[in-house]
Amino acid sequence: MIENELKGLGISSDNFGTSTGSTWFGKGETLNSYSPVDGKLIGSVKTSTKEDYEEVIQKAQKAFKEWRVIPAPKRGEVVRQFGDKLREKKADLGKLVSYEMGKSYQEGLGEVQEMIDICDFAVGLSRQLYGATIHSERPLHRMYDQYHPLGVVGVISAFNFPVAVWAWNTCLALICGDTVIWKPSEKTPLCAVACQHILAEVLAKNNVPEGVSSLVVGDKVIGELISHDRRVALVSATGSTRMGIEVNKVVAARLGKTILELGGNNAIIVTPDADLKIMLTAAVFGAVGTAGQRCTTTRRLIVHETIYDKVKESLVNAYQQIKIGNPLDTANHVGPLIDTHAVKMYTDALVEIEKEGGKIIVEGGVLNGAGFESGCYVKPVIAEVENEFKIVQKETFAPILYLIKYSGDVLNAIDVQNNVAQGLSSSIMTNNLREAELFLSQQGSDCGIANVNIGTSGAEIGGAFGGEKETGGGRESGSDAWKAYMRRQTNTINYSTEVPLAQGIKFDF
Ligand code: NAD
Repeated sequence: MIENELKGLGISSDNFGTSTGSTWFGKGETLNSYSPVDGKLIGSVKTSTKEDYEEVIQKAQKAFKEWRVIPAPKRGEVVRQFGDKLREKKADLGKLVSYEMGKSYQEGLGEVQEMIDICDFAVGLSRQLYGATIHSERPLHRMYDQYHPLGVVGVISAFNFPVAVWAWNTCLALICGDTVIWKPSEKTPLCAVACQHILAEVLAKNNVPEGVSSLVVGDKVIGELISHDRRVALVSATGSTRMGIEVNKVVAARLGKTILELGGNNAIIVTPDADLKIMLTAAVFGAVGTAGQRCTTTRRLIVHETIYDKVKESLVNAYQQIKIGNPLDTANHVGPLIDTHAVKMYTDALVEIEKEGGKIIVEGGVLNGAGFESGCYVKPVIAEVENEFKIVQKETFAPILYLIKYSGDVLNAIDVQNNVAQGLSSSIMTNNLREAELFLSQQGSDCGIANVNIGTSGAEIGGAFGGEKETGGGRESGSDAWKAYMRRQTNTINYSTEVPLAQGIKFDF
């Protein structure tokens, strides 16, 4: 199904999972990657050992010393060429993303497009790593701040965005003068091998030293090597809140830096002034797109009581038309979950909903038979619940949409929306200016992303991406997210013949 694409991406049947650029090695156990689409073995990757990791970190440290003195716009030029290479490989890589992760082919292409977009963004940024110039209170002094490269950046990523999250981090880190060690999800190792191959080729062509971009493959044990390692200046970790808490504890204990991009529990508020046509498209795509496995997936719909029945009816009708099946077939809307463990989390959640008194109005279930041999295909569910239910407070990484009723003012709906531990993405559907502005105000959504009349799902490269509370507080991608990949230094230069001391202190010799 994917042999030609693998060939196009330069992936052999015997992939090494450790790389410092052009050099590939790996002495660890073999990790098999099975597709959730049809359950078939796609390929195998050699995991990294502790010794492999040691070699990688030493090379990354050495490479940093060379890379940081290359002018930022020249580093940007390398990233520009990486973007061009991705344009060439877009179809092959998009298909591999779809086949190894299970999202639709269109979404696989979309993920590669996000990589291309962040390349373009980073190229421009490579000439804009500005600090401020500040008027000094001392005469004949000049003061300014500037940003320097930070060091080695460790990127730990999740299965659901197997290529884009790495690119968001790597492109910014590279133009900032950092070197990168990537530990991808053990569920999508081939996507990682493909990405590293593409970048390594570009780096080699530009005589960039080995160790500027490295790959280590394995489970959390390899991730822990990164988080414990003082030589890693910044750990950018994307995944579950459970993982983020563990990583944060370890990195904070050594006073290292983190960017944490963790779980979401995203809601759309639907007020009586909503355009229900827009709402329907945004809510259904947000809830079932990527089979509910986006960090920004719409999990809760908070609907005003006066329009509740109408909204419910339109959703139930729309769900009847959803086609589930092979995500490479563009006629299907919903593909598989990542693995049978994820299926178990989904079926457990359905039991939990009913136990807590929720009412399932669009029935779920695991599909079997022809086309569903992997055992990973499930039916999208809608359930009427209370926001306080324990199961609603949790992020279940599956297509389960909770319907919640509110009454009275929009502030009541905002209270419901904010009353969860996570704070990633949120949205309000309304044509009422006062409601929209309240939602965006300091009394409004407490999420890192707050939208009006678009859904919760997805985001643009140009904006800073991330969330509050248990989502971790990190920001990636656009706006000034680059600052996290650099260290700030304040410089003061005295060009007078005096040394004025603070607080009028005299200290003459
Ligand atoms: P996960 O937490 O199981 O794994 C994520 C990564 O962390 C993997 O590479 C894993 O090997 C590694 N890991 C796990 N424990 C670790 C530890 N103690 N130390 C170091 N590394 C460790 O997550 P997943 O199932 O791959 O992804 C789904 C989760 O990711 C969801 O909760 C989703 O919301 C979240 N996510 C968040 C964002 C965001 O930007 N906020 C984006 C994508 C996914």
